[in-house]
Amino acid sequence: MTRNRLTEIYNLLFERFGPQHWWPGETQFEIIVGAILTQNTNWTNVEKAISNLKGKDLLTPGKLYEVDTAKLAELIRPAGYFNIKAKRLKNFLVWFFKRYDGQLEELENVPVAKLREELLSIKGVGPETADSILLYALNKPTFVVDAYTARVAVRHHLIDADADYNGLKELFQSNIATDVKLFNEYHALLVRVGKEFCRPAARCGGCPLNELPHTVEGG
Ligand code: SF4
Repeated sequence: MTRNRLTEIYNLLFERFGPQHWWPGETQFEIIVGAILTQNTNWTNVEKAISNLKGKDLLTPGKLYEVDTAKLAELIRPAGYFNIKAKRLKNFLVWFFKRYDGQLEELENVPVAKLREELLSIKGVGPETADSILLYALNKPTFVVDAYTARVAVRHHLIDADADYNGLKELFQSNIATDVKLFNEYHALLVRVGKEFCRPAARCGGCPLNELPHTVEGG
């Protein structure tokens, strides 16, 4: 039942919206930096911060590792919470150089569960950031969930409203094929429907999922 429903949801979303071409980023490292900067802000602000880093030719692991934290904070100011995010980037880089010599190929060789655990041990890296890095930068099969995912899943009776990040992630991982491309596209489609229709005040009329059973709180 859940399995079929998740497939139906995917098909309806894909039919309506088509491929979403996530994640924007020219390099793996840019995607990692974007995943850390995107916490609590919108993507346009992240793009401005990334463009500042590119403008100073700093968007490589080695250069960002060397740059002074205060200077880094100034450059990423458009992303908001810039002092905290500069520290988070530095925490990631310290781990990356200490543990993997700053080599992305080294990360690619680590099994997904082990790498996820390591990423989660870095101060400031939460599950959504860790999973985004794993899925979008390193092509590892881990499902990314967020507030949009939760809203759609709860309203479509797939999970309880009090489910946590891991419960939600497990819902998808145990009911759809373990496939990096599918995980990537599915998450992007959920974000799309969440932004356009499944907003806090749901716009079910016209939503591609309107034909499926759902309940909107207060609706
Ligand atoms: S807007 Fe309505 S139909 Fe669309 S996903 Fe949300 S609850 Fe479902």
